[in-house]
Amino acid sequence: MADYVLDPPPRPAAPVRGTARLFPIRRIYCVGRNYAAHAVEMGHDPDREPPFFFQKNPDDADFSGRFPYPPETEDVHHEIELAVALGRGGAAIAEGEALDHVWGYGVALDMTRRDLQGAAKAAGRPWEVGKAFAGSAPMAPLVPAAEIGHPAAGAITLAVDGALRQSGDLAQMIWKTPELIARLSRLFTLAPGDLILTGTPAGVGPVARGSRLEGAVEGVGTLSVAVV
Ligand code: MN
Repeated sequence: MADYVLDPPPRPAAPVRGTARLFPIRRIYCVGRNYAAHAVEMGHDPDREPPFFFQKNPDDADFSGRFPYPPETEDVHHEIELAVALGRGGAAIAEGEALDHVWGYGVALDMTRRDLQGAAKAAGRPWEVGKAFAGSAPMAPLVPAAEIGHPAAGAITLAVDGALRQSGDLAQMIWKTPELIARLSRLFTLAPGDLILTGTPAGVGPVARGSRLEGAVEGVGTLSVAVV
């Protein structure tokens, strides 16, 4: 047994729906602007530019159903997303074989300090302060592809206090799941335990303390989060 000079931090892990088992989280990759209408609302051209990626920290994933409003911001936005959970890794994975690497799927929120992200963008600085803060990835338990297959179409929605704010369809993803895996694996060697948050449809907006966020991805599941 390794002789650590400190107690090692806990290994981030996702519950698996309907079981007592855990999916170990290695990395969280995220995709930017992967639905045309969201690219437009953020002021960008919806043309099929190559996908771009950023990361959250593995321990930013949170399954408690509570989202503590983070510090140093006045403008935290919700982004409902399909999460892809990899069971196999690799580099330069062929698009035609990409889905063989998927263990399962989940419903996730890419919570964003939009004011800090905007300032970083304007200054040409990295996005971490806007994207990779504690609790920034509230998620529902993962579900295995062996149970639900590989969803490529179906409603993806988010309601805030009962009012529908985001409504799209997985079929509207500019870059589909196999393409994302193929592209990402050319940049980074992927490994079991990696999550990919696949982008958000239009309708992102601010949340407030006391709000209830209700997300759903058809065929995958639901996510309910209280902003506290
Ligand atoms: Mn996002």
